[in-house]
Amino acid sequence: MIGRSPIICGVFKLLAFATVVTCLPPQRSQLTESQLSALVDSHPPFPALNPNYYTTATTASNLSAQSVSDRIGGGNAGETLALLTPMLIPRAPGSDNATIIRDFIKGHFHGLSNWTAFTDGFTATVPEYGGIPGALNFTNLIFRLTPPGTDHLPSRYLTLVAHYDSKISPFGFIGATDSAVPCAILMYLAESLTPHILKRWKSDLGAISDDTGLQIIFMDGEEALVQWTDQDSLYGSRHLAQLWESEKKVAQFGRLSTLQEIDLFVLLDLLGAASPAVPCFFEITSWACRGLAETERRVRNAGLAKANGQKPFIRTDSVMKNAFVDDDHMPFLRRGIPVMHVIPIPFPVVWHTMNDDGAHLSSEAVHDWAVLITGWVAGYLGLGDFL
Ligand SMILES: [Zn+2]
Repeated sequence: MIGRSPIICGVFKLLAFATVVTCLPPQRSQLTESQLSALVDSHPPFPALNPNYYTTATTASNLSAQSVSDRIGGGNAGETLALLTPMLIPRAPGSDNATIIRDFIKGHFHGLSNWTAFTDGFTATVPEYGGIPGALNFTNLIFRLTPPGTDHLPSRYLTLVAHYDSKISPFGFIGATDSAVPCAILMYLAESLTPHILKRWKSDLGAISDDTGLQIIFMDGEEALVQWTDQDSLYGSRHLAQLWESEKKVAQFGRLSTLQEIDLFVLLDLLGAASPAVPCFFEITSWACRGLAETERRVRNAGLAKANGQKPFIRTDSVMKNAFVDDDHMPFLRRGIPVMHVIPIPFPVVWHTMNDDGAHLSSEAVHDWAVLITGWVAGYLGLGDFL
């Protein structure tokens, strides 16, 4: 897969502009410790990702009463908005809360420059359960930051993914690690990196290279409604993978589908509990996992981690050769898309219990995940000189 993108890129440039352009390889570098420090200084994750941080504009209880534009404005110019606390409500598919959360996420990206929003809404057959009918509406949210000069042409996207739905039972289940924290981290990451990405693309380097874009997906319907089976789970990711496989980006490129624009599919799940241990799952993307581990080492060396004294979050010494966790990456993995699954093994002890709430999060771990993932993505996108 690594060799695929530059070749495709060269062909596109040739056909689109009738000039031979040698595309640079994907950036995929690492920020230095001082660059990581500059990145965190420019946009600290806290208080926005602190589980206990509310502003009057974004408390979970009054989210529904506010218009999206009010939330973007945040009341006062420059006010830091809470990103995690609004997510800490039940978000079952088809519920009013799910609509509130979608509006919250959409509002966040609407307030950032140059992002394009897409929705993938569909109805799926679901098992009869309590008051749930045999069919339910689901909606995936997709946001893209596309490199300049690639309008109407295929692009290459680093694709970051988390699910925003929560389990329908036990009643009132919140799913703080599953996956409110990953969603909030992705919102923070987009807010933090957008100015630096646009700065790179405005520079000469951005103009002559075939840059990697950023795509962020918030999946609906990851959880089973009754019991996990191939049919009762992964509603959103199964639908989106199928849709993108059939969606041909540009007619003259025949077989190239939206699916194939994914440079790497990075799935975050079950993050936010103390002392996580995330293995590398796939040999083919161990380069990415080892890169994430190297970023973590630099984050800790630079004194940017709050969960000090803990073992590293990323465990490169354990590549899970024949094991995997069924999750939103599977419909994409089965279609040949390279995946990095960032999920701890074992799962957090609060997994699928009422204790998976804000009170049981480790705010230090939430902070460190935000710094680590954002720092790694900044390196991947070659932002080191644009911070
Ligand atoms: Zn779950």
